Amino acid sequence: MNEHALSDRLACVGAYVPDQARLADIGSDHAYLPVALMLQNKISYAVAGEVVEGPYRSASKQVQKNRLGDSITVRLANGLAAILPEDQIDTVVIAGMGGPLIRTILEEGQAKQQLTNVKRLILQPNVGEWPLRVWLQDNGYQIIEETILSENDKQYEIIVAEPGQRSYSKQELFFGPRLIQEKNAVFQKKWHHELQQKYRVIDSLQKANKPQVEKITALKEQISWIEEVLA
Ligand code: SAM
Repeated sequence: MNEHALSDRLACVGAYVPDQARLADIGSDHAYLPVALMLQNKISYAVAGEVVEGPYRSASKQVQKNRLGDSITVRLANGLAAILPEDQIDTVVIAGMGGPLIRTILEEGQAKQQLTNVKRLILQPNVGEWPLRVWLQDNGYQIIEETILSENDKQYEIIVAEPGQRSYSKQELFFGPRLIQEKNAVFQKKWHHELQQKYRVIDSLQKANKPQVEKITALKEQISWIEEVLA
């Protein structure tokens, strides 16, 4: 992967960025996404935010190498603190991290009013999609698009959310309201695998000296949702 040839995962994230967006890419190791989108003339301005010094330097080098310093600002900052009001950011990407970390970044950013003018969130959690969807629902976002794709034998979910009130069922939050409608081959593969894992976990929990009843009940419920969806 480089700034000219994004991975399928990042290309798919980029496809959800609106034309001429003012983009913040939070956790922008190498700044591949904003640089690629700027080279394609797809965005008008970007902030690449990084909290760790090494990736921050890689991102800065990438922007300089492509002579994009006027249109992409690289900032060393924690989460949405990378965004300043004068950036007029309307689209935020947070990709390639765990769902709980993405949720914390959004939570802290919302508490500091850093999301007030943002019209679209494009999130790609590596794990923990479920609690992230719950956060979105509980904080005034609706999920307008979702994709699940496979790359290097790993499955990735991309969630696109915009401000709006919407209530989802437990199953929609668990599987993804769009993904559960489509149930494509990657979705089936992911949930077959998860099902086998959950069978193993429940088996060992049930054999334990002190069975954890609440955990077993929650797992049984999830297993029944998965079996139903895959039936
Ligand atoms: N977004 C790129 C992608 O999807 O390929 C890079 C993903 S990389 C695995 C995650 C990056 O997020 C790392 O460079 C890490 O330093 C950065 N990161 C983690 N927590 C962060 C935070 N709170 N604020 C900004 N960057 C963060």
